[in-house]
Amino acid sequence: MSENIAFPGDKIASIEEYEAGYNTFDDGDMVRAATVGQKDLDKTTRVASIKHPKLLSIPKDGDIIIGTVAAVMSSMIAVSIDYINGKPTTSKVECICGTRNIRIRNIALVNDIVTLKIISHINGTIHAAISESGLGVLFTKCRKCGGKVVPMRDAIKCTECSWIDERKLSSDFGKSDFFSLRD
Ligand SMILES: [Zn+2]
Repeated sequence: MSENIAFPGDKIASIEEYEAGYNTFDDGDMVRAATVGQKDLDKTTRVASIKHPKLLSIPKDGDIIIGTVAAVMSSMIAVSIDYINGKPTTSKVECICGTRNIRIRNIALVNDIVTLKIISHINGTIHAAISESGLGVLFTKCRKCGGKVVPMRDAIKCTECSWIDERKLSSDFGKSDFFSLRD
């Protein structure tokens, strides 16, 4: 199966044999892949295409996700999922996480990176939890100035303006490489 995968620019057929179909282009000599995907050479129509892989992945109950906070509401946060059990996903599925029972001033801010556990699927909505100690914010910034923050007991402190704030921090806060990934 894997030898059937083409990367952008890969030759997939000669233009004498095949026409360029979906996700391909013709360089005057060869039909080449314009995107990553599976080669599809239709011998009947003589059209060479690339089938885009289906990357839509929906997390299951119990899965651990890492995502970007998309919205913060009074009793929940909405998170766009970037990783499911450590594997990247590009489908941008969102989950929501109830925060009503957590007594923290700013559990997470928009654009924070959080890790959550998927707990249920109700009416097409994916629900996640944040309360366990491994779960919570992995990356955040100062709410006042956008500066880098460091953990301070149960709080965080800005290294720029010294503003002290709260987040529901993951026990992995500050250990990840997200600092280098995000600007
Ligand atoms: Zn600050």
